[in-house]
Amino acid sequence: MTEAIETPRYQRLLATEDLVREYHLAGEDITALDHVSMNILPGQFIAVVGRSGSGKTTLLNLLAGLDKPTSGRILLEERNMSDMSERELTEIRRKKLGFVFQSFGLLPLLSAFENVELPLRIAGMNTKEREQRTKDALEVVGLSTRSHHRPYELSGGEQQRVAIARAFVHKPVLILADEPTGELDSVNAYSIFGLFKEMVRNQGISVVAATHDSTLLAMADQVLELHDGKLAEREHETFRYRD
Ligand code: ADP
Ligand code: MG
Repeated sequence: MTEAIETPRYQRLLATEDLVREYHLAGEDITALDHVSMNILPGQFIAVVGRSGSGKTTLLNLLAGLDKPTSGRILLEERNMSDMSERELTEIRRKKLGFVFQSFGLLPLLSAFENVELPLRIAGMNTKEREQRTKDALEVVGLSTRSHHRPYELSGGEQQRVAIARAFVHKPVLILADEPTGELDSVNAYSIFGLFKEMVRNQGISVVAATHDSTLLAMADQVLELHDGKLAEREHETFRYRD
């Protein structure tokens, strides 16, 4: 079902302009991101590819407002994130963003259902709405019949599906995923990327997923390639947007 998203439809959901992030470590300067400019449009699936150390995690942390650039700007719905207070950034992370990590990050003592429900509890949503939303999210990821399983009773692929349901249950506008298939075999990895693709198409959310697995890239709308912190855009047959 395509329903209107609560947030106004900005032309660009998120953009970076000449983003630079340097680290100074033991007298050494590392340029983890080197003048990166990119646009994320609503309903777009972007894969960020690059080998280990190329800057993928640094970029995702900056997009999430968890880190500050050395120079350059990050615009969320055309507002500079540097002008936002910590409180506002926390609020944005809670309401507008969803996160998926390589190691799933599920709480071991909670069932799949309870793990997915947790962000809604924290947000103070009432029981009835919470249950409905959680059920719906588990259905989207194909795990309705695994609701009462705990993480250790699920396969790696299933655990990552629970993590995706949790990232998505509060209806964010953007999901940021850092090597979400890094611990999965190729069949499961493919199916996780398929799920992202489906969410983008059916729910109109945007997804930015970092990976070093180039076999997954054909599923994305756009592929951004990082080399030592510098961005190169790949040609791509399913490319939908170009500026
Ligand atoms: P990727 O996620 O693609 O593996 P990262 O963004 O983690 O790459 O790292 C990019 C570069 O920045 C690497 O050279 C890494 O060693 C360096 N780096 C990352 N985080 C820090 C940090 N907190 N302090 C110093 N250097 C860092
Ligand atoms: Mg990383």
